[in-house]
Amino acid sequence: MGEIPMNQGQCIFCGIVTGALPAATLYEDDATLAFMDINPLADGHCLVIPKAHCEDLLTAGDDVAALVGQTTARVARAVKTALQPDGLNVFQANGVAAGQTVFHLHFHILPRFVDDHFTIQFHGNPTSNREHLATIARRIEQALP
Ligand code: AMP
Ligand code: ZN
Repeated sequence: MGEIPMNQGQCIFCGIVTGALPAATLYEDDATLAFMDINPLADGHCLVIPKAHCEDLLTAGDDVAALVGQTTARVARAVKTALQPDGLNVFQANGVAAGQTVFHLHFHILPRFVDDHFTIQFHGNPTSNREHLATIARRIEQALP
């Protein structure tokens, strides 16, 4: 891998990649890094990032998305083995409206336990019919590269 594009001085996670900022790192390769979330929702809550700065999944290229996805899966398996949670969520935010607070692509790996009282709520629309679902599916399909 060549020179890694950084956003030093402006991006916390770029600072962690360069070593300018501390982190409890648990995995590193040429393209990706994993470290513990500083404000964990549970023991084992960690983050996987690309070393090269990009804001979110929408602006990451296919190569970066694939590499971060692979590391996320590997780290998730290691968290499961090491900590034996009952379950595990992987989530990732794109944009302020989605709850993103650090604008360097990252996947959260969150160990889950029965009765941990952590809830992710989806307020589904029960009126959605098959015709509407198909219309939306076509719109997304047409936007695919
Ligand atoms: P998000 O809201 O999805 O953008 O998540 C950002 C996450 O980064 C939060 O869970 C923070 O606790 C975490 N975070 C922020 N600064 C640091 C840091 N210096 N080291 C580790 N995690 C951090
Ligand atoms: Zn960055």
